[in-house]
Amino acid sequence: MPDGPGPGAGDRPRTRPALDADVCVVGAGPGGLALTLMLLRSGLRVVLAEKSVSLRREFHGEILQPGGQRILDELGVLVPARARGACVLDRFQVRERDRTLLDIDYRRLGGPYDHLLALPQPHLLAELLGACRALSGFTYLEGHRVVELTERRPGGPYAGAVLRGPAGGRVAVRAPVVVGADGRFSRTRALAGIGAGRSESFAQDVVWCALDAPGRATGAVRVHRAGGSAVLVHDAYPDRLRIGWTLPHGGWSRAVARGIGAIRDELAAVLPELADLVRAQLTSLSQLTLLDVFAAQATRWWREGVVLIGDAAHTHGPIGAQGINLALQDAAVLHPLLVRGQPLERYAAERAPVAARIHRMQVMQARAMLGPSAGPVASYLRAGAASLVTRTPIGAKLTRTIAQGPVAVRVRTELFVAATAAR
Ligand SMILES: Cc1cc2nc3c(=O)[nH]c(=O)nc-3n(C[C@H](O)[C@H](O)[C@H](O)COP(=O)(O)OP(=O)(O)OC[C@H]3O[C@@H](n4cnc5c(N)ncnc54)[C@H](O)[C@@H]3O)c2cc1C
Repeated sequence: MPDGPGPGAGDRPRTRPALDADVCVVGAGPGGLALTLMLLRSGLRVVLAEKSVSLRREFHGEILQPGGQRILDELGVLVPARARGACVLDRFQVRERDRTLLDIDYRRLGGPYDHLLALPQPHLLAELLGACRALSGFTYLEGHRVVELTERRPGGPYAGAVLRGPAGGRVAVRAPVVVGADGRFSRTRALAGIGAGRSESFAQDVVWCALDAPGRATGAVRVHRAGGSAVLVHDAYPDRLRIGWTLPHGGWSRAVARGIGAIRDELAAVLPELADLVRAQLTSLSQLTLLDVFAAQATRWWREGVVLIGDAAHTHGPIGAQGINLALQDAAVLHPLLVRGQPLERYAAERAPVAARIHRMQVMQARAMLGPSAGPVASYLRAGAASLVTRTPIGAKLTRTIAQGPVAVRVRTELFVAATAAR
């Protein structure tokens, strides 16, 4: 939707007439878009505001667990998103040198969601947005940032939001509920006076890069450990390998000082079977992107008239690929409450313990898989624990929890109505 004439046209930024909606969603990431689609299918009017003008957002990771795949499938977008290009990953493995310490086989879960999917986010977002655009009641404010939450009366419940467009024009949205789905640095959360609840519970940051690797797909997500380093590798569409090099917090500036040659040597040593690709392709520091890994659990998830989902409510580390899954599941749990006008605290009461449990599990996983080797004894114990997880029912239960979440969530499709014809 255009935002009126730009300042270059000689006009002042235009304030548009207010929009009315049943729900105003801020942020068109996986969580915000999936919720918008569920609400539209249930016959509600939704204004969705997204600050970006492209589907190619800053890099966000793309591994989708079976629980999230199920939700997208129930929304009818999984098959077309996959058709745009994706990689199926059957296994999650931890390897130390040439030994496989941990080997979780997703096929043990049974079909149809018996694998991980490396699905580029633009493919996912394009399908979700396309499905929303086909429905009545949808207004998409692309390039619009939330700048204000409006109150029904001073100190009273929130009753909408004010958004600023790319040319500086403002638009007010009147809605009984604003959903903050605007990610880990959520502005909606800050405007509602809710604390981010950031904690430094992970000892590592991750530096990402991708290599062209035709014919080198592994069908697995792997953590390679060697000489005190841990590196994540997985297939990525099209014909690429995505590499995540874990470093202790603050280690990036020391790595930069050592230079790209030293980084290349270290990665090649940890990944001997990929050393040819690393040596040929990794030529500049600009190919590497640092992710500051932190966890957060918002101090509360709702106030009257505003509610947070996904990373805005709870941010997770990349280990175990849980963020997209949880954001989609949050959307599916909140959807029926918004449709029926039921209290928002029910959503928080159901989802906050799930996010906390996943966080505890990730901290454990990060310590076990990415922590320093600390000598042959620690290495032996790590191998013993990994073998227990791989071979026993504990392993099967853990795989299910990682794949589906502690509580399986389904979309309440019975709330969908027929009268959502294309515009
Ligand atoms: C490097 C990295 C790798 C990751 N790897 C994985 C992985 O493999 N698997 C996995 O499951 N998770 C992964 N995650 C986490 C995952 O990406 C997030 O948990 C997930 O995207 C959360 O979805 P969301 O919809 O809550 O928020 P986001 O995806 O962050 O979407 C928020 C949206 O809000 C918009 N926005 C922000 N501010 C405003 C504003 N003021 N006004 C309007 N719009 C705004 C943003 O542009 C964005 O589109 C990774 C994260 C990172 C950073």
